[in-house]
Amino acid sequence: MQLKAPRGTYDILPPDSSKWQYIEGILKETAETFGYREIRTPIFEHTELFERGVGSSTDIVTKEMYTFKDKSLRSLTLRPENTASCVRALIEHSIYSGIMPAKWYYIGPMFRYDRPQTGRYRQFHQFGVEAFGSNSPYLDAEVIILLIEVLKRLGLKEYELHINSVGCMQCRDVYRQKLIEHITPVKDKLCPDCQTRYQQNPLRVLDCKEKSCHQAIVNYPTLSQHLCDDCASHYDVVKKGLKANSIDYRHDDNLVRGLDYYTNTAFEIHIPGIGAQSAVGGGGRYNGLVEDCGGPDLPGIGFAMGIERLLLAVDTLAKELDSGKSDVFITIMNDDYELQALELLTRLRQENIRAEKDYMGRSGRAQMKYADKLGARMVIIIGDDEIQQGYFTLRDMQSKEQVQIYKEEIIESVKDRLVKFRGGNG
Ligand SMILES: [Zn+2]
Ligand SMILES: [Zn+2]
Repeated sequence: MQLKAPRGTYDILPPDSSKWQYIEGILKETAETFGYREIRTPIFEHTELFERGVGSSTDIVTKEMYTFKDKSLRSLTLRPENTASCVRALIEHSIYSGIMPAKWYYIGPMFRYDRPQTGRYRQFHQFGVEAFGSNSPYLDAEVIILLIEVLKRLGLKEYELHINSVGCMQCRDVYRQKLIEHITPVKDKLCPDCQTRYQQNPLRVLDCKEKSCHQAIVNYPTLSQHLCDDCASHYDVVKKGLKANSIDYRHDDNLVRGLDYYTNTAFEIHIPGIGAQSAVGGGGRYNGLVEDCGGPDLPGIGFAMGIERLLLAVDTLAKELDSGKSDVFITIMNDDYELQALELLTRLRQENIRAEKDYMGRSGRAQMKYADKLGARMVIIIGDDEIQQGYFTLRDMQSKEQVQIYKEEIIESVKDRLVKFRGGNG
C-alpha cells in the first residue's frame, strides 16, 4: 500500500513554504509592533478544557474534535482552537497577578474533524491574539486595528469588517426573552438543530447556516437595540476608535456569538473573491471565559484568523515572492577540488550568504545549468588554472561577465556584489 497523508491534511513543500514564511513573518512582526508577545501551548490538552473553554454545545466540541485516550486512558484532544489553551496557561501560571494587560499572539496548527473542502482542512493553521485583564473599549479597537494592519501589510485592500455588540449578561437576558417570544410562533419552520436549541439559546438561531431559519425569523428584534447603557457606550467608543483610524466597518446584527462567555464587541473580517467561505478571521470580547475555565473574573478579547484562507487571498494577488534563491553557486571543473569547494562554501555561509554546490557528480557545463535553475546570482568557478595561480573566477549570471579574484578577497568581493544586487532590486 502506498502511504498518503491523512485526508484533510497536506504537505507544505518548497517553494510554497517560502510563502508561509513570508506570511508568518508579517503576522509576527505586526503583532510584536503592537506589543503582543508569542505564546506556544501544547498541541493536545485535556478534553475537559475544550468542553469548558469552547462550549460543550458547540459544533466544534460535539462533532469536530480529535479526541483520543492515551496509554493511561486519559482523554486528550488535539486543540481545535487556541483561546482555551491560552486561558488555561493564564490561570495555571497566575499571569493575572502580574502586569496587566497580558498581550499574547500565537501561530500554529489546529485540528477539527470537518468535511474537507477548498480552504478548509482537518489540520489547519491559525494566527491569533489574546489580551487579558482590561475591559477598555480602546483595547477592542486596538485588536481590530491590528487585524486590519495585518491585511494591509499583506497587500489585501479588499476586505469587509463586520462588527456588532453582543452586550453583557444583563442586557442579553432581557433580549433573549424578547427573541424567544419572536421565534416561538414560527418555530416549526426552523431546522431541527434550531428547534431544539432556540429555547435554551435563541441567539444561535441568528447565526444558523440554514437560510430557511433566517427567513422564518425575519424582522427579529436586534441585540444592538437592547444594549444596556454601559454596553451601548462601550460599543460607541469602539466605533469611534475605528473611525479615528479611518477603518471602515459595517454594523452587522447577524454577527452574534451564541455562548454566554462572549460579551460586547464581536467582529469578523471577510475577503470577497476567495469563495463561499469568505470569512478569514474573527473574534471579540469574552469577559466570562476566564472565570468559566476556573480562573478569576478577568476580561479578555482576541481574534483568530485562518492562514490557509489568507493564503488564498494573497494568491489571488499573484504576489511575487523571492522563493529562496541562492546567492552563490560553486562550480568545480574537477573532482579533486571538492574539498576546496566545501571549505569555501562554509566560509560563505558563515557570512550568511546563501551558497550551494553540486552533489550529483555533474559535469562543469551541467553545474552551470543547475546554478541557473537555483537562481544563483553568481558562480564561483574552481579549475586547474585557478588552483595553480591562487584565484577564483567569479561569473555574474545576469551580465555573463567573468572576473578573476584573489583567493583572499573572494568573500569580501561576493559581499560587495550582493549589496549592489540587493540595493538595485530592493
Ligand atoms: Zn449590557
Ligand atoms: Zn437553523
